[in-house]
Amino acid sequence: MPARATTTGPREADLRAALAGVIDPELRRPITELGMVGDLTVDDGGRVRAVVRLTIAGCPMRDTLSSDTARALGEVAGVTGVDVELIVMSTEERQALKERLKGSGGSRGIPFNAPDSLTRIYAVASGKGGVGKSSVTVNLACAMAAKGLRVGIVDADVYGFSVPGLMGLTQQGITQSPTRVDEMILPPVAYGVKVISIGMFVTGNQPVAWRGPMLHRALEQFLTDVYFGDLDVLFLDLPPGTGDVAISVAQLLPKAEILVVTTPQAAAADVAERAGAIALQTGQKVAGVIENMSFLTLPDGSIMDLFGSGGGRLLAERLTRTVNAPVPLLGQIPLDIALREGGDNGAPVVQCAPASAAADALQEIADQLASRPRGLSGLKLGITPG
Ligand code: ADP
Repeated sequence: MPARATTTGPREADLRAALAGVIDPELRRPITELGMVGDLTVDDGGRVRAVVRLTIAGCPMRDTLSSDTARALGEVAGVTGVDVELIVMSTEERQALKERLKGSGGSRGIPFNAPDSLTRIYAVASGKGGVGKSSVTVNLACAMAAKGLRVGIVDADVYGFSVPGLMGLTQQGITQSPTRVDEMILPPVAYGVKVISIGMFVTGNQPVAWRGPMLHRALEQFLTDVYFGDLDVLFLDLPPGTGDVAISVAQLLPKAEILVVTTPQAAAADVAERAGAIALQTGQKVAGVIENMSFLTLPDGSIMDLFGSGGGRLLAERLTRTVNAPVPLLGQIPLDIALREGGDNGAPVVQCAPASAAADALQEIADQLASRPRGLSGLKLGITPG
């Protein structure tokens, strides 16, 4: 029996309106828009029975969905109780959902390259490992998500993937795997950021021993098959150096702008310059330089330049000359135990210690990136796929 309008019982329109507030945790859209709401019935005593269609049988979010639905319906005037029945979508229903998500025809291809895509893409690069590139990536992503932007991360640091751990998606060595709806992959969400990593597809701590073409295909699949939805910002955490992945990113996402992370050491600037100068070959823009581990504040308040000073500014100046366009130094992040601890605990410092000096510097960089004007599409690539 469909929901009825009685003088005392809940109205169907109110029930549906309440369900529009239930957001699918993975797809991040109201369940009413996703075709997930089935029969909705109310008995004479005001008890509601709602059928919710899950995308797949083993949906890891079934408990959350069930309790969110029950809570939303329970708050509607006249409802005396709620029973939620979870069923699984039929093949046709799932197909309809995929079309709704990807646009009709389930278009393949990389959505970020669509002419109307407004997603800003930042490929975070560094000359060498250990300078804090991944820590900077996750913190900028979280800071921007906290401002209400829709943010995603592709962990493209294939050999040294660390983003799932830094985002709290790896617990006791086990990384959360994405849900799959047929060939569509739904990225896990942490701190409001959609995250995908090679680390989610390998078992245990196995090394990834892939060469260029395979890496290129894996990256292409991430960008094509992973459902990110409309994003304001996409970050790519590149491997250190100037390897195959950086070239693949440039080919697959010509709009991507490069952010270079370096330390204050002048010698580090030399290596980092090569990572940034790749933009010359690929026709990408360099959005800026971020200096990390800039200084250490000692307990007595004095400042110690543990890794020297000036490397970030030097690199920004050199890149400005190399790419013949202004490359700003976006900020200097101090050494801060809170940042390291946050990373170790899977809780980025901008979230877990927002008052810390490192969080402050990261927040300021995120603010600058968020307020940059959009619409700087990439230049044409001067290289061909190898
Ligand atoms: P990369 O991605 O460049 O290899 P990571 O982000 O993994 O570097 O950082 C390397 C290590 O340095 C991590 O243990 C991280 O917590 C630590 N680290 C990075 N930046 C800072 C900082 N500003 N203060 C303290 N520790 C940091």
